[in-house]
Amino acid sequence: MALEKYRQKRDFTQSPEPAGGKSHKSPSGRTARFFCVQKHLASHLHYDFRLEHNGVLLSWAVPKGPSLDPSTKRLAMHVEDHPIEYGTFEGVIPSGYGAGIVMLWDRGTWTPEVEDVDAALTKGDLKFTLDGYKLKGSWVLVRTKGAGWSSGGADRSWLLIKHRDDWAGDVDIAEFAPLSVKTEGDFADILSADNPDIWRSNRPAKGGETGAMFEKIIARALEMRSGRSDRSGRSGGSDRSTSSSKRKAAASSKRKVSTSKGKIVARKKTGARKAR
Ligand code: MN
Repeated sequence: MALEKYRQKRDFTQSPEPAGGKSHKSPSGRTARFFCVQKHLASHLHYDFRLEHNGVLLSWAVPKGPSLDPSTKRLAMHVEDHPIEYGTFEGVIPSGYGAGIVMLWDRGTWTPEVEDVDAALTKGDLKFTLDGYKLKGSWVLVRTKGAGWSSGGADRSWLLIKHRDDWAGDVDIAEFAPLSVKTEGDFADILSADNPDIWRSNRPAKGGETGAMFEKIIARALEMRSGRSDRSGRSGGSDRSTSSSKRKAAASSKRKVSTSKGKIVARKKTGARKAR
C-alpha cells in the first residue's frame, strides 16, 4: 500500500532499483532502526534522507545535503516512501524516473527522541538521534508552515536541522566525506563498474552545472574502463583485471574516507562520552 507511489513512478524492467516485495516489521517507540542517505546525481545533485518506519523508508530529498551546523537549516522535500531494500542500493539508473547515479553516502541507525513517531510526523516536528558513519547526534525534521503530512509522501517541504551537541560543527560533511560507505568509490567508480557507455548520446542532465558534472564523471568512468580493458588484453582475463583495478581504486579512496572519519571521531569522541 505505502509503496504504490514508489512503484508507479518506476519501470523495474528498465531500472535496477529494488521493487520491494517483502513486508517488513519495524521497531516502534524509542528503539533504533535503519537510516541511510543516498547521494543522487540525477537532473540535479541531491541527498535522499531515509528513515525506517512502519516497514518502509520515509524519504526526504535534501538538495544541499545535511549540514552539521545548527544554524544552517537544510530544505528537505518529503517524497514517496521507499522499500526497506532500497537502503543498501547503489548503482546506475539508466533512464526514466531518477535517471542518474545513486551512491550510498551514509548508513546506520536512527532512534526517535519521542515515543510516538506517527504523532510527531503529523505534528511536523520529529526529533531523533543518528548513529551513522558520517552523521551522528541529535537532529530534527520540522515541517514548514502550510504543508501537510500524508504517509506515502506528498512532496511537501520540511527543514533538516542539526541540534547543538558534540557532533555539531562547521565541517562541510558533504565535501569532507564525499564517498560511498558501501564501496568507498565516487560517482565515476560506480558508473565505471556499470556501463559508462549508456549516456554517450542521451544524458540525464545536459546543460548547466549538473550537465558538466555528468560530462566529467562519464569521461572518467570511460577512462577507468579503457585502463581495465588494456590490462585485460594483456592478461587475457577481463574479470580478474577488472576486480584488481577496482580494488586499487577502492584502496586509494579508502584512505581518504578513513582519514576524514578519523578526524571527526577523534575530535568529538571525548565530548560524546561525557554527554552519555
Ligand atoms: Mn533522489
